[in-house]
Amino acid sequence: MNIQDRKAVSFHYTLTNQDGKQIETTRDKEPMTYLHGAYNIIPGLESAMVGRSVGDEFQVTIEPADAYGEKDEAKFQRISSKHFRLPKKLKPGQVVGLQTKKGPVRVTIIKVGRFNVDVDTNHPLAGQVLTFEVEVSAVRDATKEEIAHGHAHGPGGVDH
Ligand code: ZN
Repeated sequence: MNIQDRKAVSFHYTLTNQDGKQIETTRDKEPMTYLHGAYNIIPGLESAMVGRSVGDEFQVTIEPADAYGEKDEAKFQRISSKHFRLPKKLKPGQVVGLQTKKGPVRVTIIKVGRFNVDVDTNHPLAGQVLTFEVEVSAVRDATKEEIAHGHAHGPGGVDH
């Protein structure tokens, strides 16, 4: 069975950035499961999956435009340190969760001042060229429910 729209696909991956630094891997846990054709994963990875089948292993390098986008200068912000629980313990480069009116966001700490903290609210992987080493571990027809929800259910997918 080949990967195409309306297939639920499970795969292991190891993600590294352009500096060769490993960002994350599923090798020590369940593979990730997604619904193909539903924009569950970044576009560059989804298009590299098309036509693959169980047991296929491949490597794909994806430019920011097909991954998490370029860094947006407008997303660098100065925030009052009172919004951080432990502002003195923050270090540049650290990624922390921040509650906002639009819900929780992950921000990267740029600079910690006495009253303010400069943060980058771009996705932590924005602006990065990403390389995925992928192994396809399962491909099956998606259920009607999965297609209606726009995501895959079960281990490695959405659990609800
Ligand atoms: Zn669902």
